[in-house]
Amino acid sequence: MKMRLRLLPAFLLLAAPVFPAAASSEGGSPPYLLVVHGGSGVPADLSEDLREEYRQALTAALQAGYDKIANGGSSLDAVEAAIVIMEDSPLFNAGRGAVFTHEGRNELDASIMSGRDLEAGAVAGVTTLRNPIQGARAVMEQSPHVMMAGPGAELFAERAGLEKVDPGFFWTQRRWDALQRALEREERSDEQSHLDPVEGDTRPGTVGAAARDRSGNLAAGTSTGGMNNKRHGRIGDSPVIGAGTYADNSTVAVSSTGWGEKFIRTAAAFNVHAMMAYQEKPVAEAAAAALDQIAEIDGYGGIIAIDKEGNVAMPYTTRGMFRGAVTESGEIEVYIYQERARAPE
Ligand code: ASP
Repeated sequence: MKMRLRLLPAFLLLAAPVFPAAASSEGGSPPYLLVVHGGSGVPADLSEDLREEYRQALTAALQAGYDKIANGGSSLDAVEAAIVIMEDSPLFNAGRGAVFTHEGRNELDASIMSGRDLEAGAVAGVTTLRNPIQGARAVMEQSPHVMMAGPGAELFAERAGLEKVDPGFFWTQRRWDALQRALEREERSDEQSHLDPVEGDTRPGTVGAAARDRSGNLAAGTSTGGMNNKRHGRIGDSPVIGAGTYADNSTVAVSSTGWGEKFIRTAAAFNVHAMMAYQEKPVAEAAAAALDQIAEIDGYGGIIAIDKEGNVAMPYTTRGMFRGAVTESGEIEVYIYQERARAPE
């Protein structure tokens, strides 16, 4: 099917950052097939060139996921394909562009869930798996487990035939510099600097996707390097089913980004599902309410969600969130801040 890109005027906003602000949400005209995010840690001073690179990467991820479903693939295939594109891009804090731990290593987390049968898989703290989302899917489909961590997860992924890389593969100058800045701040303030709510480079670019295929099956996945300057062994929300990722065909597929500890404590992704299942809230209301609960414990972040009818919500409480969605007819929308950005050609 030919891809149609909706060309939208790129108008720029609002000098004032909106952190911590009321959630904003897009996605007016269903049905959508796929929604993606590239993290809610958007710095205020992103150059126009970098914005364009992000828009192109988000568009490529949406296109890859769309192509899977257009060619008869499942929502799981679409989620995996979209996330692999973002993991392979150094722009995002997942796979190739992962942030560093305090000790200067990259420890990656990912999860995936199928809404049809509530099957789920996750890997945590892996250092040599090129595409952690594929490791998560292998755990889901080829093991009796839901979550595997560290060397055991790596061995399992290798035996499943997934690509192994040297840990140096994940080294990027941009993330290394961000770690150095965080270490300096930490020395000055003796606070753990990943707790700083306004420093953009401490919370960049986790990626996620949520999809609905032609059979009505929902799926979601999330992949991350975690938080800049995290301690060795720290696991965030991204590989935790119910916090970073959740999917249930009766309601919604969800992927989260933001301060992971707060998303774990509020079971954020499951919370969206629960409000839809038990309170019959529409998806936009449920996603915004989940973020409100996170704000109540001083957390921040964003959520993407697609419901069983193909309605999407992409609220966030930070300055911006890299995000986008594609409709059944192939129209792509991408956004960074509040503006409805032009999808690159
Ligand atoms: N939620 C991720 C974590 O805490 C970070 C992020 O989304 O930026 O590991």
